Amino acid sequence: MLSYQVVEWGAPLEPRSFATPEPAGTEVLVRVEACGVCHSDLHIWSGGFDLGGGNRALLEARGVRLPLTMGHEPVGVVEAVGPEAEGVAVGERRIVFPWIGCRRCAACARGDDNLCATPQFIGARVDGGYSDHVLVPHPKYLVDYSGVPRDLAATYACSGITAYGALKKLGELDAADSVLLIGAGGVGLNGLQLAPSVTPARVLVADVDPAKRAAARQAGAHDTVDNADPRAVTTLREMSHGGIAAAIDFVGRPETFQLGMDVLRKGGTLVVVGLYGGACTVPVPMFPFTAMSVRGSYVGTLAEMHELMAVVRAGGVAPIPIERRPLAEANQALRDLQQGRVLGRLVLEP
Ligand SMILES: [Zn+2]
Ligand SMILES: [Zn+2]
Repeated sequence: MLSYQVVEWGAPLEPRSFATPEPAGTEVLVRVEACGVCHSDLHIWSGGFDLGGGNRALLEARGVRLPLTMGHEPVGVVEAVGPEAEGVAVGERRIVFPWIGCRRCAACARGDDNLCATPQFIGARVDGGYSDHVLVPHPKYLVDYSGVPRDLAATYACSGITAYGALKKLGELDAADSVLLIGAGGVGLNGLQLAPSVTPARVLVADVDPAKRAAARQAGAHDTVDNADPRAVTTLREMSHGGIAAAIDFVGRPETFQLGMDVLRKGGTLVVVGLYGGACTVPVPMFPFTAMSVRGSYVGTLAEMHELMAVVRAGGVAPIPIERRPLAEANQALRDLQQGRVLGRLVLEP
């Protein structure tokens, strides 16, 4: 098999050939038909995340070793199954759910593979979909996408599940409540489209880009706000009749995190999803004074992935624009994404 691998952090991916693995035990070998290129691939490629104040979280310090084949949004055809792999047949087309844990710890036993302390995430910790084949440890991580276009289905393994997993953390809300989504990029727009399937609350969207605000209004946002406007907090308090019940920060910069906290009503919840990077200071007494909850959300569970696909299959989630590229152009694809030259989602085809 041919894989495009990170052999040195930040250096161009190298095409490398290997013997195609034979699945053992419960493993399943999937022939990759397409794999989405995610913004977080840029972080993985560079070897770390910005923590602010000149600090970086290095993947190497977390046990990620090179060479690594990136690609955590693969879809493909089951090509071979291990002797203990049940419930799956050669020839079936599936999404590979990549957020796989050690399958031995308490988090994994609860079904929270995405929160496992020793993750085996496909394309982030173990070899992924920038390849013509990917090895999956167990058939339960293969998700049916029948009725959904293949390349679109690929993107639900990361941007879709990330938006859905965050929405599930908003808490109990009713139709008089307002939810604020900060950032109307790919994941934020997915969140906006999925929101009605998760919460009855009115959905407001903040983005600094007028084109993204227009796209958000078209996709069903109740109203939008320019968060670069100094009156943004006041405007959002008015729009929400006294404060936002729950907000999701899809950007993850100090400015957007601050906005999320500033607009919450007492007892509100801020969910942080974006990984843009940076740091900010919060006065500790603000937590008891406002009784706010701030929580993070990282992708989602396998159970949420199945729920998400049921929502997608029922309709009502508009497809995001997809651009196809050959896998051999993976390096150019990453550079284009890095320079903001991609509208919607890039998908690589081996
Ligand atoms: Zn991703
Ligand atoms: Zn585990």
